[in-house]
Amino acid sequence: MSNGRLLIVSGPSGSGKDTILKKVFERVPEVKFSISSITRPMRPGEVEGKKYNFVSREYFEEMIKNDLLLEYNNYVGNYYGTPRGPVDEVIKNGGEIIIEVDVNGARNIKNKVADAVSVFIMPPSFEVLKARLTGRGTDNEEVIKQRLDAALAEIACAEQYDYIVVNDNLEEAVEDFITIIKTDRLSVKRQKYLINEVLKKC
Ligand code: 5GP
Repeated sequence: MSNGRLLIVSGPSGSGKDTILKKVFERVPEVKFSISSITRPMRPGEVEGKKYNFVSREYFEEMIKNDLLLEYNNYVGNYYGTPRGPVDEVIKNGGEIIIEVDVNGARNIKNKVADAVSVFIMPPSFEVLKARLTGRGTDNEEVIKQRLDAALAEIACAEQYDYIVVNDNLEEAVEDFITIIKTDRLSVKRQKYLINEVLKKC
């Protein structure tokens, strides 16, 4: 059986990573998504158990205590963490799982799982990023500035990733992302089992 693979995805607010991932899962439905446990309140339109499990602080701290999280981070006053169980299960069965985390989470996972593949979703330019963050029309100027500063700080960490996917044209970005998944599937590391399988027959 093929070795499993953990794929880490990060990208600043305004990079369009959620839209890209939604389309990627439509095209490669066998790839799983890691549902994070988080303590921030649910936003309008969010659904329990889709992208996040919304849990209490007490529950989250129990998870930390019992070592049930692969990684966790405190982001703007709330906990965000990746439950270990579902990730281990997919990897054990030779599958692929995408974990969407901030840059700290990505670093923590890479330290624990050295062969995880990491992808940074990048806006094509500063101007486009600013226009996307402003265009939502939901935030005042101060909040937009904060989001922009946070985005620039994340982009400064992009060189720690294995791949960068630029989200200029959505369809091309989705294609690029799927190319990374397919390229990884062709690597010797993931196909070592084949060598033994063929040799066994001679
Ligand atoms: P938001 O509150 O906007 O949904 O997410 C805030 C940030 O938390 C985003 O950068 C997102 O990628 C990150 N995030 C989501 N889930 C996790 C997680 O399980 N662990 C970590 N470290 N970051 C996460």
